[in-house]
Amino acid sequence: MNQAPTVTPNRLTAKDLPPVMPFVDGLPLASGSADHFVTHDPSNGDALLEIGCGAAADVDAAVAAARRSFEKGSWRRAAPHEKKAVLSRWADLIAEHAARLDALDALEMGKPVAQAGFSAASAAALMNFNAEALDKILGDVLSSDSLSTVIQPRGPRGVVAAIVPWNFPTYNCVIKLGPALAAGNSVVLKPSELSSQSALLLARLALDAGLPPGVLNVVPGRGDIVGRALAEHMDVDMVTFTGSTAVGKRIMQYAGASNMKVVGAECGGKSPQIVFDDGIDIDAVAAQIARSILFNQGQVCSFGSRILVQNTMKDALIDRVRPLLAGIQPGDPQSADTSYGPLVSKAQFDKVASYIENATAVPDRLAYGGRKLLGESGGYYIEPTILHNLAPDNPVVREEIFGPVVAVLTFANEDEAIRLANDSDYGLAAYIWSADMARSFRLAHAMRTAITVVNAEAVASFGPGHAYSGEPARMSGLGVEGGLAGLEAYQRRQTIWFNHG
Ligand code: NAD
Repeated sequence: MNQAPTVTPNRLTAKDLPPVMPFVDGLPLASGSADHFVTHDPSNGDALLEIGCGAAADVDAAVAAARRSFEKGSWRRAAPHEKKAVLSRWADLIAEHAARLDALDALEMGKPVAQAGFSAASAAALMNFNAEALDKILGDVLSSDSLSTVIQPRGPRGVVAAIVPWNFPTYNCVIKLGPALAAGNSVVLKPSELSSQSALLLARLALDAGLPPGVLNVVPGRGDIVGRALAEHMDVDMVTFTGSTAVGKRIMQYAGASNMKVVGAECGGKSPQIVFDDGIDIDAVAAQIARSILFNQGQVCSFGSRILVQNTMKDALIDRVRPLLAGIQPGDPQSADTSYGPLVSKAQFDKVASYIENATAVPDRLAYGGRKLLGESGGYYIEPTILHNLAPDNPVVREEIFGPVVAVLTFANEDEAIRLANDSDYGLAAYIWSADMARSFRLAHAMRTAITVVNAEAVASFGPGHAYSGEPARMSGLGVEGGLAGLEAYQRRQTIWFNHG
């Protein structure tokens, strides 16, 4: 597998990309940035874009534009049906431009366009959910004595800064922008330095859909410059963050040290997939575990990267997963034939490789994979990898690798499975495989996670669509995201107390 991938006809390349500039008040803005950095096409290592690192002046301009638009009120005060019409039109435009958005993301960070999950089409559906949801949020009328009437309406928080990662660039923008704008806020969006293009295209499409200029502004650049300036800004009312736990902790410090802005933080994970040898369909489990390792090359926050399997089934399960991983088609993420892409960057590639090297320095720990792939291409391809015979305190068991690597641990009984599953600094997701319904419920109730999936996608259900909410536990973050409760998180309750005698 060390040959170069074939070149995809009509693939986007560096020459197809517009320059990356802040987008403020509906217009590109010349950045005050003194320095630049270079991004690379992860499928071949070629230089892609030179991007300004960003500057506090860019952030000040964007926050001022957002504040002006908020005070002016053309979005905040718009009737619900008007907001709904704009967001629905925007969702339609996202769907219309889905192929380009997916190709931009594939070029910048390597998600294969053939993988439908968290694609631009699903981002369009998510935007539609928020458009439909915005007039379903109700205020309260409180029980009070007959001398007064007390109501609690909910209103926008003001200027929201949204700081997002690179792993699903389009979708991660929409998961913030949809509810923040549906709630009536004005927003400054900071995309990851590795994936700015789809964020800027989304902002232009928002204008076309009728969102007033200044309501959505984008400031690209480095996290420690632009992201930090936003999280420390005295005129930002809320910062909503998705990214690593390390940076999430800093965001909380910046907020606390500045104006005590509200923080929502969706951070890292090390989620367990718990497999009981009690009559479950081992092929269905193996297929789902293989899919989860391959999806976006394991660069998924909720990836079940800790496989906890009952000791009597461990060897059989690994034997079933191996051939499914061997069947991958690595290649150009922009090609419809590619099922497996590169990692996002050289730094991420080196990080994942070093976890594998350190773990396999001890014999008998590599159950599958571990090699670099498509070496001739210059791209950042790494084989899906299964590690086993590990102590529970090994770094590959405890730390988020954010790559296609699973660590397999065994348990003897239900109590041990629960203990191992919760023995983590993180609390994002858990996946339970058992033929015993009562046991599945016991386990689900015992999990300390934002979401627990029982018989994880044994049937490919769409569940409640975009209507579910999750609230991470422990160092996976804080605050609700998703569904109606996720929209409410972008609003503030106010008590209005009429004394009428
Ligand atoms: P990251 O934390 O390095 O960066 C995330 C964002 O924060 C980027 O825009 C970055 O520029 C910015 N940033 C970096 N340093 C900053 C600073 N000092 N101040 C302010 N902003 C700063 O994460 P990443 O590598 O882009 O993404 C991978 C991480 O995201 C993983 O840990 C993954 O689990 C997490 N993630 C979580 C969820 C979730 O819903 N819980 C979803 C997707 C990704």
